[in-house]
This record gives sequence, structure tokens and C-alpha cells, in this order.
Amino acid sequence: MDTLDSARDPAPPMRECGSCSLCCKLLVIEPLNKPLGGWCKHCAVGTGCRVYETRPAECRDFLCGFLTLRELDESWRPSTSKLVICFDQGDTKTMFVHVDPARADAWTRAPYYPKLKEWSRRAVAGRGQVIVKIGRRAIVILPDKDVDLGPVGDDEMIATQECRSAHGIELNAIKLKRTDPRAALVIPPQQREGIAFG
Ligand code: SF4
Ligand code: SF4
Repeated sequence: MDTLDSARDPAPPMRECGSCSLCCKLLVIEPLNKPLGGWCKHCAVGTGCRVYETRPAECRDFLCGFLTLRELDESWRPSTSKLVICFDQGDTKTMFVHVDPARADAWTRAPYYPKLKEWSRRAVAGRGQVIVKIGRRAIVILPDKDVDLGPVGDDEMIATQECRSAHGIELNAIKLKRTDPRAALVIPPQQREGIAFG
């Protein structure tokens, strides 16, 4: 079955950022102490990076999903979609879709939401996850529902569970404290952001 892993092409399309700089707003840049959701102080919005030659390695090496997923068209350019797609530290099993808080409903619109559902089905097939992030708020996209977990702290993680019900096996998503004994059952040690499928 087609999984999320297959979404990433080993020879990514030759796309360029152009006037987009949305990752400079939505993502944490640790060397700069840049928090979630605020523009980097070095960003000239719509123009580019004022410290391009000396920008941190995190910026230099970052490629969002729009640049690396051949199956996406121009409508997914982050400056248009208001969505920045990332994979968890090279892990193709967990996809994060960071949403511009100024357009918090952007992920719910077409063509984006149907694609998130398709990716969710593919993620489940490969025991992965698709997680919408609006600042600290996390919404886990499952094939048959979306689970809004609210804010997820640094001391918490997200797990997807298989639950038995009268209708068979159903999926659900929960957040766990890292100190929760159940966390040890579902978190591979390499899961930096504590996202797991259990
Ligand atoms: S979000 Fe993607 S396309 Fe936009 S500036 Fe960042 S890497 Fe480039
Ligand atoms: S240093 Fe430059 S590339 Fe990095 S987040 Fe700031 S503006 Fe963007």
C-alpha cells in the first residue's frame, strides 16, 4: 500500500522559495531563540533574509514539503497556502503541517484538507502520523476524524492508539506527559519531538 514515505521524492523538484518566507515566521529557530509563530528579526518579509550569508545551519538546510514533494502543485506554495509542511527530523513517518495563525483555518480548505486526509490514510498504512500545528495547538488528522488536542507542551507528546470498539479497531490520538509510564511503551528513543504511534 502507498505510504507517506513514498511522498518524498529522492530527486525533489527544482522549486525555489521565491518571495515566500513563511518558515521564517512559523518555525522555531533555536540558535536565534526564535519562538513559534513570530517573524524572525532578520526576515525582510517578501524580500528575503537580511543575514542570508551567515544564517544558521537550521535555516540553510531546511527544505519544506513544498520544495520536496513532487505531488504538490503551485497552490501549495506556503505564501499562498499558509501551510508549511515538515517531516520530523528526517522521519518520513510523521508529517507536521504548520499553519499561519493569521489564517488558522487555512488547513480546512480545499485542496488542502482532502490532501491531508489522503496523507493520513497513507500515514496510517506506514504507522505514521499527520499533525496540524497552529502554534502549540495540535490537531491529529486521522482518516475518519480529526482530534484536536489543544496546546501540547514541551513536556508532552502525542500518541496514536488503536482502540477496540463495537465497530472493530478504531484509531484515536491522545497527548501524554513524557513522565507518563505509558509513554515509555510507545516512544522510540529517536523520537525527538516525542511524537509516536503506539
Ligand atoms: S516555507 Fe518553504 S518555500 Fe517558503 S521560504 Fe520556507 S522553505 Fe522556502
Ligand atoms: S535567519 Fe534568515 S532564513 Fe533564518 S529564520 Fe531568520 S530570516 Fe529566515
